[in-house]
Amino acid sequence: MPADSYERLVAKLKRAHYLGTVAGLLGWDEQVNLPPDSADQRAEQLALLAELQHAAAADPEIGRLLIELENPVCHLLSDKLSGPADREVVVREARRDYDRVVKLPAEFVSEKARLSSAAYHAWADAKAKSDFTAFAPFLEKHLSLARQEAAYLGWGDRAYDYAIDKHDPGMTAAKLTELFTELKAGLVPLVRAIASSPVRAKEGIFKGFPVEAQREFLREVTGRLGFNYRRGRIDVSLHPFCEGAGADIRMTTRFDADNPLDSLFSSIHEAGHGLYEQGLPLAAQGTPLGQNAGMGVHESQSRLWENQVSRNRAFWRFFEPRFREKFPSQLAGVASDDLYLAVNEVAPTLIRVDSDEVHYNLHILLRFELERRLFAGELAVRDLPAAWNALSEELLGLVPPADKQGVLQDVHWSGGAFGYFPSYCLGNMIAAQLWFTVLKVQPDLETDFEKGDFSRLLGWLRTNIHEQGRRYETLELVRRVTGEELTPKYLLRYLQERYAPLYLK
Ligand SMILES: [Zn+2]
Repeated sequence: MPADSYERLVAKLKRAHYLGTVAGLLGWDEQVNLPPDSADQRAEQLALLAELQHAAAADPEIGRLLIELENPVCHLLSDKLSGPADREVVVREARRDYDRVVKLPAEFVSEKARLSSAAYHAWADAKAKSDFTAFAPFLEKHLSLARQEAAYLGWGDRAYDYAIDKHDPGMTAAKLTELFTELKAGLVPLVRAIASSPVRAKEGIFKGFPVEAQREFLREVTGRLGFNYRRGRIDVSLHPFCEGAGADIRMTTRFDADNPLDSLFSSIHEAGHGLYEQGLPLAAQGTPLGQNAGMGVHESQSRLWENQVSRNRAFWRFFEPRFREKFPSQLAGVASDDLYLAVNEVAPTLIRVDSDEVHYNLHILLRFELERRLFAGELAVRDLPAAWNALSEELLGLVPPADKQGVLQDVHWSGGAFGYFPSYCLGNMIAAQLWFTVLKVQPDLETDFEKGDFSRLLGWLRTNIHEQGRRYETLELVRRVTGEELTPKYLLRYLQERYAPLYLK
């Protein structure tokens, strides 16, 4: 493989990547700092950057270099036993990205952007009025564009598989159906049993937690988990998110004086995303080896820190005294068991984003099943609200009183983001499977947590997940790290072990 061609390819990829990081920073700034009347100027800046970034990513020179580097002789360099060689990974993944940029005609891309903008406003209006029929034509159009996009990329009529693969490389609707069917069979009985339990977390036990002290506490927690504040920061925005790459990770949270666990756990969740980004090989930044392995894997990192680690008794043995020290009067009347039950509160809700980790997966199963039927032609858009409500009753035992608490609750479909929801549930499954794997090699791991030490867990994740970049597709990565195919049985076991002792005594 000619070295100079490879180096030229890497330089081109880095150029597109760094332009993307500038756009990301402007996007972060828009949600954290932007003065109210500066939005139009920011939109112009972002549009210009998007144009430059697209031109850099679609540079015909990248196409020429890829053809040169895809010469079969190159493959002799890889050692199939130890996994693909670095250069092979970069060329393979750069091809995947390049095709997705250049195979879509410019008119198609701008049509989708225009539709998404109009559909977003139509969705917000429809949601406010709880009127699905006003949004339905936009959703129909998005579905037709999604089919067209898959065809441009050579996926034929496998449009839903293409949509899923965009978020989780290698994943298919058939594989998800298999995983989710097994998950549902185990999860619904557990949820029903907890629902009929008399145990409930106490309402309204948290009052008047000063924001500044909350900020200090969550910084201490996320810092101890391993988030490097010399290469990242946390600020406030309406919806928490994590943005950035390499040496500059921007997380956000939000504060509520009467709900300190919300900002704490959302910060831990975002810190999990941040820890993954901080652990990607910095030397490979701008190439696929320095990029994350997909949404499901990303979400597995945030969920593992948020759920398996931070809802754990061992975690609270260390942090509860510190929490009480920070908020002595606010927590004076809160018993230790009530605090731990509040951390692990389970209660059904119609709204996905308000859901606990037990119910959450059912919200995803519902959305996946509807997307699958829509793409398979088994369900018409106009029949979506009725289908949503029927599944909601079957899975959650709740029927939305109006579409705004049902089919109109999420923003995703207004942007044509199909195949995105399943990643959340995949992330939960992967997190649980990784958790039981690391406990096999480090059985005393939780005793570290009792001392406020999370470095062994982070080290294991660094080696096995973070440092792999985009070397493997989702299922292959799970197979290599855990020695097993991805299975929902670990998520079911984790939920059972965490919640049965609390609710089913
Ligand atoms: Zn997340």
